[in-house]
Amino acid sequence: MSFDRQRVLVVGGAGFLGSHLVDRLIRDGHWVICIDNYFTGHKRNLSHLHNHPRLETIRHDITEPILLEIDSIFNLACPASPIHYQYNPIKTIKTSVVGALNVLGLAKRVHARVFQASTSEVYGDPDVHPQDESYWGRVNPIGIRSCYDEGKRCAEALFMDYHRAHDVDIRIARIFNTYGPRMAFDDGRVVSNFIAQALRGEPLTLYGDGSQTRSFCYVDDLVDGFIELMAYEGRACHEPHNLGNPGEYSMKELALEVQKLVCTDLPVERRPAPPDDPMQRQPDISCAKRNLGWEPRTRLQEGLGRTIEDFRQRLKAGETGTYARRRSLRTESKP
Ligand code: NAD
Ligand code: UDP
Ligand code: UDP
Repeated sequence: MSFDRQRVLVVGGAGFLGSHLVDRLIRDGHWVICIDNYFTGHKRNLSHLHNHPRLETIRHDITEPILLEIDSIFNLACPASPIHYQYNPIKTIKTSVVGALNVLGLAKRVHARVFQASTSEVYGDPDVHPQDESYWGRVNPIGIRSCYDEGKRCAEALFMDYHRAHDVDIRIARIFNTYGPRMAFDDGRVVSNFIAQALRGEPLTLYGDGSQTRSFCYVDDLVDGFIELMAYEGRACHEPHNLGNPGEYSMKELALEVQKLVCTDLPVERRPAPPDDPMQRQPDISCAKRNLGWEPRTRLQEGLGRTIEDFRQRLKAGETGTYARRRSLRTESKP
């Protein structure tokens, strides 16, 4: 099966990554159905495609079954930032696990190829560096991040079992930290926090001593990787593939980079490190390079520049936060 002009379902298509994927699929000539419950996603992420003849959007929660006739599926539904996934941890696990089950049941019924957006968090706080796909991870099963990590690990197990038991044609991407235009301002992630803080003239909040590292991939590069993985039909196509940018930066370095690009000399404000915060993270992408011929191209400075420009426009337009954040603020302010 080639990945050419199909009816493609994107679950979680109104989110940050989902909306960029929908853009790409529409550009490539596919018919796209997007389903989303708008928990962390937003209609405005797809508003530029309003009334597009090849896009249909459906408000639906993937923890409930759904009947559709499609050729392939991308499953991206899941709140992805700690603030969002810890807001209702039980719902987060349900979305990962029951959501994956429904997506797989659907894929099995209509014989669709199905892609799972997994995460580098399946490696936990790794004692192997950089992490390749053969590493089984070091995850705390009972910590405050486990609703996300363990939910995603269980989803991977379900994908593998539907493949082994029912021959479902699966793809699994283990996504490392990704950034770009349309990230939610209020998602608490380091890139969105630093950029929004710098543009608002607030100090940049650095957690811990700032020596912890992450590797940041620009969203367009990542979406190229999704498409390559979905199209790949080689021997290892059902195995997980790391997708990310191996360029590793400490949070201190990232703060400096954002300050340089926004042209501010705002102070950095130290905050305690969050519990279970991994000290190092860097993808080993040899598998994706070898099998998909894929590697990221966008330099951090270039990607940050485009993200800053997008944030500037949205702040100017008075954009407010996501539904998830608005709800959590309401709850926090209750007496
Ligand atoms: P996001 O929060 O912007 O997107 C998730 C989308 O799923 C949102 O539109 C949300 O409303 C929707 N959703 C959540 N629960 C749902 C449910 N029960 N039913 C239907 N829709 C639901 O996050 P993102 O950054 O775009 O991440 C997309 C996927 O990629 C997630 O599965 C995430 O775990 C994975 N991922 C992202 C990153 C990253 O750096 N952005 C890294 C690793 C993995
Ligand atoms: N499912 C779905 N759409 C479909 C087919 C199945 O949402 O087109 C759901 C189904 O309701 C079930 C899950 O997917 O909750 C797993 O389906 P499967 O057929 O694998 O298992 P079973 O229904 O036998 O539990
Ligand atoms: N971080 C930070 N300041 C912030 C937000 C995050 O220093 O305002 C740190 C955080 O402690 C972590 C790193 O930046 O070490 C990346 O955090 P993020 O939530 O973006 O990604 P994740 O921890 O899920 O990889």
